[in-house]
Amino acid sequence: MQPPHSQNHFVCLDCTFTQPQPGTCGRCGSDPVLDMRDPNVREMCTEQDTDRRTKRDELFRYVSIPVGIVLTLVVCVIVPPIAILLGIVPFFFGYILGMVGATLVVMVLLKSIFPYRDRFPRNW
Ligand SMILES: [Zn+2]
Repeated sequence: MQPPHSQNHFVCLDCTFTQPQPGTCGRCGSDPVLDMRDPNVREMCTEQDTDRRTKRDELFRYVSIPVGIVLTLVVCVIVPPIAILLGIVPFFFGYILGMVGATLVVMVLLKSIFPYRDRFPRNW
């Protein structure tokens, strides 16, 4: 994302390039660029960013669940005292809590390692 320029009012929804004149995108040559001074265009850009963020968060969640489960089982095998500790809680709830905790840790780590950056400028 390039820094917004006061004269670059037109944005390409495909590659986020901004330019001063209407027409086709100066970078990728795709569809007509849209005027960011139009509140509807700004809302469309915000919705695109929100959708992308939601899909990314869902992907991290789906990846974190199996990783958290496997991580808990591996830790229980490698460090037997942890398996004994988790086994104290009846009905495998200790293991389930361990897996949920590991899943949350993996999810937080993924989000901090790969922070989401908005594609479109917000300060128009
Ligand atoms: Zn473009």
